[in-house]
Amino acid sequence: MLLTRTAPSVLRAAAAAATAGARAHARRFCPLSTLAVLEHKEGNLLPQSLPVITAATKLGGTVTALLAGTDAASVAAQVAKLNGVSEVLTVSNGAYDKSLAENFAPMLQENIKAGGFTHVVAAHSAFGKNIMPRLSALLDVQQISDVIEIHDDSTFVRPIYAGNAIATVKSSDDIKVLTIRGTAFPAAAEGSGSAAAVQESSADPKVESSTTWVSENLAKSERPDLGTATRVVSGGRGLKDKDNFDKLMPPLADALGAAIGASRAAVDSGFADNSLQVGQTGKVVAPQLYLAVGISGAIQHLAGMKDSKVIAAINKDADAPIFQVADVGLVADLFTAVPELTEKLKSEK
Ligand SMILES: Cc1cc2nc3c(=O)[nH]c(=O)nc-3n(C[C@H](O)[C@H](O)[C@H](O)COP(=O)(O)OP(=O)(O)OC[C@H]3O[C@@H](n4cnc5c(N)ncnc54)[C@H](O)[C@@H]3O)c2cc1C
Repeated sequence: MLLTRTAPSVLRAAAAAATAGARAHARRFCPLSTLAVLEHKEGNLLPQSLPVITAATKLGGTVTALLAGTDAASVAAQVAKLNGVSEVLTVSNGAYDKSLAENFAPMLQENIKAGGFTHVVAAHSAFGKNIMPRLSALLDVQQISDVIEIHDDSTFVRPIYAGNAIATVKSSDDIKVLTIRGTAFPAAAEGSGSAAAVQESSADPKVESSTTWVSENLAKSERPDLGTATRVVSGGRGLKDKDNFDKLMPPLADALGAAIGASRAAVDSGFADNSLQVGQTGKVVAPQLYLAVGISGAIQHLAGMKDSKVIAAINKDADAPIFQVADVGLVADLFTAVPELTEKLKSEK
C-alpha cells in the first residue's frame, strides 16, 4: 500500500535524477560544452547577458546557462526560451545575490567540475571583470578578456593597447575562460521552439566570503542605458562647464531618444557623472548613432566608441581628430548648433 502511494513520486525523482545524470554524462563526453554565466537583477535577465549566449553558441557544442542568487529560478524561465540555450542551471542561494567574487568563483569552479565544461563565458562587464579572473586563478588557466571575435573553440580575437591593435590569440588551456565584449555579438533572441530544461544545481560549495556587501549608490536615470542604447550623445570639455552640459545635453538626448555619455575631461571637470564616461577607462559603446559634442577625439575616447555604426561630431575646430573617424561632421560653435539641432529634431517628431 505504502509502495503504491509513493511509487509515482519516487519514479519521478528517479527519472529526474537519471535525466540530470544523463545530461551531465553527455556533457562530460561531449568534446565541447560551454557554461554561460549570466547576470540578473530584480527578477530580470540583464541585457549584457544576451550577447554572452550568442558568443557561447559560436564556440560550437552545448550551451548551459548558469544563474545564481535568490531569483535564479524565476529568471531561468526567461533564459530557457532563448535561442541556443541547451540547459539552464540554477544555484538558488541568496549568498550570490551581490556577485561577490570570493564565493561566486568557487561556486562556478564546482559547477565546472561537476558538469565537465570546456569553456566558460561571461560579459566583459563589472561582473565578469570581477569574477572571471578569480575563477581563472582557481582553475589555473589564462583568462582571455574582452573577446570581439571567435574563430574556433580555441582561437579568439581581442583588442589590445586601448583598441589600437587587434590580437588573435590561441589558447591551449583545457578550460577556456572568456569575457566577451557585448557590442561585438548580437543579442540572443527568444526562440520559437520548446524551452530548454531548467535544473537546480547540486554543486554549491557555500564558501564563506571574506568580503561583505555593505551598500551601493546607483545613478538612476529614465534615459536608455548607456551601455546598450542604440543612440548616444556625448559631451566634452567644449561645453565649458556643468551648467552648459545640463542645459544642452539632456534636451538633445531627449529629442533623439538617446543615452548621454561624456568624455573623461568632462567627467573630471565635474560636468557629468563618472558612470557616463565613454572610452578606454570608461564604457565601451557601439550604438547605431554616436554624436560627439565638443569632444576632440583623443585615442582614449575613440577606444570606447569607434565601433559605433554612424559617428557624428560637432566641433568648432575643423582639424579636431574626431573628424577623422566621423561619418558626419559639423564644424560649428556647439552653443549655436546644439540648440538649433535640438529644436529641429523636436519639430520633426
Ligand atoms: C590612461 C588614460 C586613459 C584615458 N581614458 C579616457 C577615457 O576613457 N575617455 C576619454 O574621453 N578620455 C580618456 N582619457 C583622456 C583623453 O586623453 C583626453 O584628454 C580626453 O578625451 C579629452 O576630452 P575632450 O575631448 O572632452 O576635451 P578636449 O580634448 O579638451 O577637447 C575639447 C574639444 O571641444 C572643442 N570645442 C571647444 N569649444 C567648442 C565650441 N564652442 N563649439 C564646438 N566645439 C568646441 C575643441 O575644439 C576640442 O576639440 C584618458 C587619458 C589617459 C592618459
